[in-house]
Amino acid sequence: HAKEAGRNTFAFFTSAMNRDVSRRLLLEEQMHGALARDEFRVCYQPKIDVKSGEITGFEALLRWRNPTLGDVSPGEFIPVAEHTGLILPLGEFVLQEALATGAAWYNEFHRELSMAVNLSPRQFRDPNLINHIKQRIAKSGFPQHCLELEITEGVLMSGHGFIETALDELTDAGIIIAMDDFGTGYSSLSYLRNYPFDVLKIDQSFVRDITHDHADLELVCAAITMAHNLGLSVIAEGVETTEQLDLLATHDCDSAQGYLISRPMEQEDAKQMLEERQTYTLS
Ligand code: C2E
Ligand code: MG
Ligand code: MG
Ligand code: MG
Repeated sequence: HAKEAGRNTFAFFTSAMNRDVSRRLLLEEQMHGALARDEFRVCYQPKIDVKSGEITGFEALLRWRNPTLGDVSPGEFIPVAEHTGLILPLGEFVLQEALATGAAWYNEFHRELSMAVNLSPRQFRDPNLINHIKQRIAKSGFPQHCLELEITEGVLMSGHGFIETALDELTDAGIIIAMDDFGTGYSSLSYLRNYPFDVLKIDQSFVRDITHDHADLELVCAAITMAHNLGLSVIAEGVETTEQLDLLATHDCDSAQGYLISRPMEQEDAKQMLEERQTYTLS
C-alpha cells in the first residue's frame, strides 16, 4: 500500500534524523575536554612540484582519536567544532603544531618547505587573528613567507568587513593565501577578483575524472589558465593516479597533492619521507 509505504518512509526518515542528531550530540559531548586529553594530533600531507617531483611543502590536517568513538574524520567533527566554538582552541593547536613541526624541519633540512594550515570561518571572526598568527610565527622560528593559509569560500562568505583587510595584512606579511576547494562554491570567480590569493587549489571533485571526463578536463584547464593569467599558482588536490598527474603536467598545473604521492602521514613518517625521498618519481 502506498499509504503504508509512505508511513514507513516517514518513520525511516525520522529515525535517520534522530540518529544524526544523537551522533552530533555524542560528538559534542566527547569533544568536550578532548584537546586537554591529547586526543587530537596533526598529520602532514606532502605537496609536490609537478615538473620536478620535488616536495615543496605540506598541508597540516587535524586528526581526532577518541576512546569511545574511535577515529572521527574532520569532515564530521570540524563542522561540530565550528558550531560549538571549539574550533578556536583547535585552530590554535593546529597552527602551533604545524609551525613547530615546520620550524624543526626547517632547522634540520635547511629547505624552505611551505606549511599549509586550514582556517575556518569562525576563526576569522576574531579581530585579533592576524596579530595572533604573526606572533605565533615569530615565536616559532618558522620562516613567515613559508606559512600558507588555506581558506574556503565559507570564510569569505561569512562576509565580515575586515576579511579583506585581514587578507591584505597577511599578504603584506608575506604569508601565502590559498583558495581551497576551488570550484565547489557559488562565487569562486568573484572572490578571486576581490581577494589577494596567491594559490588556487582545484577541488578534488574536478580532478577525479579528468582522465575520462572531457568537461572536467576542460574546466581544470580553464582554471589553470585563468589562475596563471591572474598571477596565481595552481595546485590540484586529490591526485590518485599517474594518469591524472601526467595530464596535469601536460596542462601546466604547478603542484599536486594526493594519495598517489602520499596519504596524510604522522609527523615522524613525513619527516622520514623528507629524509629518504626528496622527490616523487614516477615508477
Ligand atoms: P581540505 O582542506 O580540502 O583537505 C584535503 C582533504 O582531502 C583531506 O581530508 C585529505 O586527507 C584528503 N585527500 C588528500 N588527498 C586525497 C586523495 O588523493 N583522494 C581523496 N579521496 N582524498 C584526499 P581530511 O583530512 O579528511 O580533511 C577534510 C577536510 O576537513 C579538509 O579539507 C578541511 O576542510 C577540514 N580540515 C582538516 N583539518 C583541518 C584543520 O586543522 N582546520 C580546519 N579548519 N579544517 C580542517
Ligand atoms: Mg585544505
Ligand atoms: Mg581542499
Ligand atoms: Mg576538500
